[in-house]
Amino acid sequence: MRITEIHVFAVPLPVKDGPYRMASGEVWALDSTIVKVVCDDGLVGWGETCPVGPTYQPQHAAGARAALAEMAPGLIGADPLQPLALRRRMDGLLNGHRYAKAAIDIAAHDLMGRHYGARVADLLGGAVTERVPSYYSTIVGDPDETARIAKDRADEGYPRLQVKVGGRPVELDVETVRKVWERVGTRVRLAVDGNRGLTTRDALRLSRECPDIPFILEQPCNTIEEIAAIRGQLHHGVYLDESGEDLATVLRVVGAGLCDGFGMKVTRIGGLHAMATFRDICETRSMPHTCDDAWGGDIIAAACTHIGATVQPRLMEGAWIAQPYIEGHLDPENGVKIEGGHIRLPEGPGLGIRPEESLLGAPLATYS
Ligand SMILES: [Mg+2]
Repeated sequence: MRITEIHVFAVPLPVKDGPYRMASGEVWALDSTIVKVVCDDGLVGWGETCPVGPTYQPQHAAGARAALAEMAPGLIGADPLQPLALRRRMDGLLNGHRYAKAAIDIAAHDLMGRHYGARVADLLGGAVTERVPSYYSTIVGDPDETARIAKDRADEGYPRLQVKVGGRPVELDVETVRKVWERVGTRVRLAVDGNRGLTTRDALRLSRECPDIPFILEQPCNTIEEIAAIRGQLHHGVYLDESGEDLATVLRVVGAGLCDGFGMKVTRIGGLHAMATFRDICETRSMPHTCDDAWGGDIIAAACTHIGATVQPRLMEGAWIAQPYIEGHLDPENGVKIEGGHIRLPEGPGLGIRPEESLLGAPLATYS
């Protein structure tokens, strides 16, 4: 089986009731990059990558497209049924840019599933659930309003909530976390996500002023060094998210005992093949983690749900997908959605979803 064509689409995804606000800035709309990979036997696979604006991380939409333009001509003729060889081929064409490679990797997994008649989750080791837990993420907002939203989401059935903090006086963050806790208690697990936005001083203060609240602190500070400096003084477990840039970093921080778990994005780590390796490293050391979207539409939501379905349940912190925050679906029939705080695993083969091509517009580029 050989790749004969790669088509690249740009699809705008407006944020519902925007903006989405976190410590690193506001997001009003997403610029998603979708790839359609066509093979010599007529099978088609779909992939996607969608950085959440240009300031959340170094990744950005135009960068993804430039990276795809660099790699795509060299991927014509590659075999999508060999994900490891495909990853090595991409690494031989371009250094880094894992988030762009992830789109090709996801499309290859979709193709594998369609070729073998299997769901992507089963190709990744086997689904342990058909109903993948998700979590809801509040934006940096008013303490009372955030607590009200948190309670509503807990009532809806979300097993976990993530409260965004940072980018404002820490007193407001402490007040927000405390009010959320008063409303939801132990009904849901709590994460407090600084998105790199807290100083070590404020992260320490947040932890010291809430020692009775059992949350985990996700990526409170910008660098691993800052987090390492305060880790021994915190009352709360620490997860890394943005700092988990690649598998080498994951190995380093796990080996050095610098965190208790991860928020992990499928695209940041390089796709589903790398994500399965990450999952296995975490399971080896009993480290909980998420299987997140870096935003995006149905394709990437399906990818996150498939890998999420394979995580050992005691270590699964949820698959976060952007669906509650964006309008509509690229696959109007089988679009991936959260119901009762959980996501139904799409039925196969492959990703189990297929975008309606008329919603994508004309391709930005075609390689053949
Ligand atoms: Mg996070």
